[in-house]
Amino acid sequence: MKQETQALHVGYEKNDFGTMSVPIYQTTAYDFGSADHAANLFALKELGPIYTRLNNPTTDILESRLAAVEDGEAALATASGHSAVLFSIINLASAGDNIIVSDKVYGGTTTLTSHTLKRFGISCKIFDSNSAQDLEDLIDEKTKVIFFESLSNPQVAIPNVEKIVDVANKHDIVTICDNTVATPILFQPLTHGIDVIVHSTSKYINGQGTALGGAIIQRKGLNDKLIDNKRYPEFNEPDESYHGLIYAQLPFPMFILRARLALMRDFGATPSPFNSWLFIQGLETLHVRMKEHSANAYKVAKFLKNHPKVKSVSYPGLEDDFQHDRVEKYFKDGMCSGLLNFEVESFEDAKSILDSTKIFSVVVNIGDSKSIITHPASTTHSQVPLEDLKKAGINAGSIRVSVGLENADDLVEDLKIALG
Ligand SMILES: *Cc1c(COP(=O)(O)O)cnc(C)c1O
Repeated sequence: MKQETQALHVGYEKNDFGTMSVPIYQTTAYDFGSADHAANLFALKELGPIYTRLNNPTTDILESRLAAVEDGEAALATASGHSAVLFSIINLASAGDNIIVSDKVYGGTTTLTSHTLKRFGISCKIFDSNSAQDLEDLIDEKTKVIFFESLSNPQVAIPNVEKIVDVANKHDIVTICDNTVATPILFQPLTHGIDVIVHSTSKYINGQGTALGGAIIQRKGLNDKLIDNKRYPEFNEPDESYHGLIYAQLPFPMFILRARLALMRDFGATPSPFNSWLFIQGLETLHVRMKEHSANAYKVAKFLKNHPKVKSVSYPGLEDDFQHDRVEKYFKDGMCSGLLNFEVESFEDAKSILDSTKIFSVVVNIGDSKSIITHPASTTHSQVPLEDLKKAGINAGSIRVSVGLENADDLVEDLKIALG
């Protein structure tokens, strides 16, 4: 089955009523019917719903579709993209360990990995994901994770995937790729040898800005990398919190199983069944929307590139962009998603453009069908010193745009007027 078909059909057997729409199982708990069945579920002798913090039939369908469209083995849906990022990391790293994170990631991922996790004893090193030349030197025996984004938010940077995967495999370290902006329609990380994917489903997968959610997906065969791997005792030694269970001895996708049984059980970042249903709706049309987001963003980027008041445009989909060869190499049909950045002369110019647009909303989100414009220096990155901003590729006049699904000519006209 191809991706478009999987997004519409995987995991759902129609119920007695033949309902075409996946039902929303809005329930907290499940009647086990018998003491034996209950005991078997808890002992993992049978798999099935126990309690909605751990699993839910609506969420199960979302998970199996996400796993399918990413060509993965199993998925865990979470309450937000952030909880997916957190769980993917702490499923592998504990106090005393370190992780290596790309220099170009979502701001919230930076605060989590560089600051908050440090308080829990997990230290973070930063590598240059563009070249990945410095990656190997950062690795030691306590390194548990290499984390990067396939098309980074907000820098729209595309990493050197082969180099990262080669170095990680040489040292038997798990790679985690945040695929939120590229989406599985443009890029399937697991088919490039990456081990684990995380998503903020709040963005393109939802598509309409109606719910927060996230997901973790593991590649087929990841168990083999974890079994007997000295870096990952959590999977190979008895889990005291689960009657001494050893994940490596179970016939299940163990990365996702442990994230569910240990992390979701204890941290409880569970998606609501209703939100899972919204993501199921979004996933159905994702492939159609990504084509349009990409085509619209290309037109907007081309317009901006030729405007005298625009100093620079970053959109790797443009033929003369320095990363364009990576778009051709990795992304399907040259699509490059809807996110782009451009720069005008000053802080004031940038703010005046935001105030003048009529169709673009001033919002800190991306991936909505409705176009969005943001000025990072006065909002998302206002707490960051200017020197650090520059390192992250953001200047006082930088503007971030998430191009939506309106008619591209209307979007260009709106920006033309706003630029004056
Ligand atoms: C938004 C975003 C996140 C965080 O997701 P939430 O759903 O907002 O918690 C993580 N990574 C990337 C790339 C994002 O764009």
